[in-house]
Amino acid sequence: MAKHNIAVLAGDGIGPEVMAEAIRVLDTVANKFNHQFTYTHALAGGAAYDEYQDHLPQATIDICKNNDAILFGSVGGPVHLQHEAKWANCEAKSILALRKAFNFNINLRKMTIFPEIASLSPLKPELLKNGLDIVIFRELLGDVYFGEHTLSEKDGKRYAFDSGAYDEDQVKSIVQYAFNVAKTRGKKIVSVDKANVMAMSKLWRQVANEVAKEHPEIEYSDMLVDNCAMQIIKNPAQFDVIVTSNLFGDILSDELSVLSGSLGMMPSASFSNSGFALYEPAGGSAPDIAGKNIANPIAQILSAAMMLAYSFNLHQEASAINNAVKAAIVAGYRTGDLASGQAGEKIVGTKEFTDQVICNI
Ligand code: NAD
Repeated sequence: MAKHNIAVLAGDGIGPEVMAEAIRVLDTVANKFNHQFTYTHALAGGAAYDEYQDHLPQATIDICKNNDAILFGSVGGPVHLQHEAKWANCEAKSILALRKAFNFNINLRKMTIFPEIASLSPLKPELLKNGLDIVIFRELLGDVYFGEHTLSEKDGKRYAFDSGAYDEDQVKSIVQYAFNVAKTRGKKIVSVDKANVMAMSKLWRQVANEVAKEHPEIEYSDMLVDNCAMQIIKNPAQFDVIVTSNLFGDILSDELSVLSGSLGMMPSASFSNSGFALYEPAGGSAPDIAGKNIANPIAQILSAAMMLAYSFNLHQEASAINNAVKAAIVAGYRTGDLASGQAGEKIVGTKEFTDQVICNI
């Protein structure tokens, strides 16, 4: 029997709704596999601002520190209210602040396309016959995001300058993590860089090659980022695990996130060097559909499954959740965002979709 303590930060909009469903799923797994999960709820985003006039109060950080992992919902208000203090920079002040507070240097997003709902994808159906399951790792604390940025004048012309840097430890930390995850999946990894031009990428490629030598059981290759952006569209099934730097990961992970056809499908995780992690859906708080029992809970439920696998080493339990979600889709159950008009589809609400997942567990 495993015992784990989870900090639950549901946030705003659909966050609390889909979080409640993920917790029902976790409780089902705890019962079935005889584990004990204890949840401590804390405020983040606009919900925290209402109580503390702070989007990430110290009380929330302390609760996160005292738990084994963070399960995060989503934060933020309607886009037309972003000028209000409650919602201004809400995402940066809570989720980015949380990343900074815990030194999360590795981000992972998982993109799954089930063949049954492949018609929602902008990709051609023949590319998706067997579905897709791709994980992308993005480094979070280096690259041009943390360099110098100047926009000025030089020699009478407007002039711009950006700098970026990586050291070998930063690269090794994420590449090593990506290899460890590749071992639990399809044993195939592609490291993406721009080593034909950039010094940061040359170092990235050197270090990635060194780490690859320690893992001969994993099929490893390098790919230039421009080629990778094309290959994701032309032949996505070739990818299992992608690992890349901050800037390229920002762009490629957004490219991957539109392939499934709904933002409600993509779980993500952020890890620090110490192994501490936060799990969250990749989408936002969707205020336009909040409180209506129509949000897709899959990304939140799969984020909880990732937590079981990567933070608690409960791989069988994580697979039980992943398979249960897949079985609900195969049986025709869909939230509204996944409706494609095909015969046999049963359009259900957030709770009712989760009921099916729970039955399948
Ligand atoms: P969004 O991701 O919230 O919504 C975009 C569209 O996708 C909306 O039409 C929404 O209804 C739909 N959608 C998103 N998740 C869904 C789900 N689970 N089920 C069904 N449909 C879903 O992006 P937005 O509208 O640009 O932003 C809304 C708020 O979310 C903003 O305040 C933004 O800052 C915030 N945001 C937060 C995070 C985060 O918490 N990590 C990430 C992105 C955006």
